[in-house]
Amino acid sequence: MQQFDYDYLIIGQGIGGTALAWHLHELGKSFLIIGDSSMPSSSRVAAGIFNPLTGKKLVKTWLADDLFPYAKSFYGSLEEKLDRKIVHLAPIYRPFRSIAEQNTYLAQTADPAILPYIANTPDPRNDLPYVNADFGGLEVVQSGWIDLPVLLDASRAYFRNQNLYQEATFAPADLVRTEERIEWHGQQFGMAVFCQGFFALENDWFNWLPFTPVKGQILEIAADITVKPYIINQGIFALPVAENRMKVGATYSWDPLDWKVTEGATGELKSKLDGLINVPYTLKDAFAGIRPSVRDRRPLVGVHPEFPNVSIFNGLGTKGVTLAPFFAKELCNHLIDGKELNPLVNIKRYFSLYFR
Ligand SMILES: Cc1cc2nc3c(=O)[nH]c(=O)nc-3n(C[C@H](O)[C@H](O)[C@H](O)COP(=O)(O)OP(=O)(O)OC[C@H]3O[C@@H](n4cnc5c(N)ncnc54)[C@H](O)[C@@H]3O)c2cc1C
Repeated sequence: MQQFDYDYLIIGQGIGGTALAWHLHELGKSFLIIGDSSMPSSSRVAAGIFNPLTGKKLVKTWLADDLFPYAKSFYGSLEEKLDRKIVHLAPIYRPFRSIAEQNTYLAQTADPAILPYIANTPDPRNDLPYVNADFGGLEVVQSGWIDLPVLLDASRAYFRNQNLYQEATFAPADLVRTEERIEWHGQQFGMAVFCQGFFALENDWFNWLPFTPVKGQILEIAADITVKPYIINQGIFALPVAENRMKVGATYSWDPLDWKVTEGATGELKSKLDGLINVPYTLKDAFAGIRPSVRDRRPLVGVHPEFPNVSIFNGLGTKGVTLAPFFAKELCNHLIDGKELNPLVNIKRYFSLYFR
């Protein structure tokens, strides 16, 4: 039996690395997370929304019936353990753009697959006078948002107190891999798991995977009224985060792929918001990040094609909040008990890119 300082080295403490660490912790495995808090992180920019019915066509999110209950119980248990408010349940109000859209959406709500995610209460438009909803709207339930900065900070403090988190910038040249072990800064590990989000592209171990990163920006505004606890969604979202504060997002852009806020993106969001709400507001802040998206829009999970002690947990794309807990569990089951990963997330589907 090999002896290591830790079973796992986790590189990156976004929601991916954090969800994985909590699962390993629950399973009694030892790990060291390394993170650099001066580096950007998509999880710290994200609004943290979980929304079971997305897009113009009101499509049920992939695996929603499995992912959503699991995510809620995972974040709920962390809320208790860390004694912080992390989970904010909030319905999503989707104003119809036209009578035609109203008819299409209402016909779709008859679908038994999406029925559990639609409120069976009257249209709340009268409670939302600041929202432009001339044609009424649809209320989606089992939705809300996770306060990711609170969760990440509290998790980091918890792990640091137990010497399971180290502030460091990972440099690939510092990692020594042999068949028996992983060595980093003089410490021995059974396995390295890369959870670097967008920065996987700077890492030769996994930069052959077909990442298709997408930049996004969100705003924080102060409205001249007290807002109701409804997430408003029509092309963009307006998410109430405090009495009169809302986060508004998000944009999607590909060039340049950087972490900088732009006036163009701010203007785009403001003009969409002006069509959605009818009260004055002040712009308070703006944030930009890069989503670690993938060509087939599925996570990238699993073990390196050549090196069995090197793994990845990435590709969480636009939906890290709901994907991370469920697939962190799947990755643990795979690494510890040899349980097969869902082939749609297993990086095996791309091994031909590595060997070509
Ligand atoms: C504008 C915007 C809005 C979004 N809104 C939502 C939303 O409402 N709901 C939702 O579910 N998702 C949303 N997302 C997507 C979400 O942010 C991602 O799915 C998720 O955060 C990815 O998590 P991650 O841990 O894989 O990556 P990251 O959060 O980027 O974490 C990777 C971490 O690794 C660290 N790291 C990388 N390299 C190194 C190194 N060499 N040394 C040390 N540390 C390193 C990084 O600094 C970072 O902290 C949004 C994204 C954006 C940009």
